[in-house]
Amino acid sequence: MGVLTSRVQKMKKIQLIILLLIFQSSLFAQNILPQEDYWETQLTPLIEVNDMLRLIYNDPFKETFLNAIPAGYPMNKSVNINSFYGVRNHPIHKVLLFHRGIDLKGATGEKAIATGDGDVIEVGFKTDLGNYIKIKHCYGFESIYGHLNKILVKKGHHVKRMQIIGEVGATGTVSGPHLHYTLKKNNQYIDPFDFLFMDFERGKIGMLR
Ligand SMILES: [Zn+2]
Repeated sequence: MGVLTSRVQKMKKIQLIILLLIFQSSLFAQNILPQEDYWETQLTPLIEVNDMLRLIYNDPFKETFLNAIPAGYPMNKSVNINSFYGVRNHPIHKVLLFHRGIDLKGATGEKAIATGDGDVIEVGFKTDLGNYIKIKHCYGFESIYGHLNKILVKKGHHVKRMQIIGEVGATGTVSGPHLHYTLKKNNQYIDPFDFLFMDFERGKIGMLR
């Protein structure tokens, strides 16, 4: 009788341990490491850069999704801006037009790099953009690189942050070589300025100003 009781007790103990392990692993899956679509639902609706930064900054798992956000400078050099986002007197058309991106100083042949992981969804030529590349990232982001001299990726390519995708040029309606850089979020144009200074590479979030 005594042997049987202790065997039953042992079995109960093992059952309890198994239950505890299942409970712990479900805790880990649900409460500690968020589900894959967690950031999709949190980050996608945001338009304001401060809201995005607040969310990203407070997330202990930011390293897992940071590379999918287009941030940093689209060339391997320090920030140097020709023309800002917003209403401006167009240098060629001589009328007030909304500039839906930012113009970055560059010489023909300098390398343009992807600012985040994503898929090339469009390459081509438009008069106002010249040769351009459009990359779709996660969370509703798109980045566009214009007036390129050369396009080094094809539609459908998956690109990584910092990957060389083209060469700076002066194609389309321009007064000289530069890189036109546009950011879109949920199909709306946004000012890329703050994103140019985001330092996601070193695993920390900060504005490098
Ligand atoms: Zn431009």
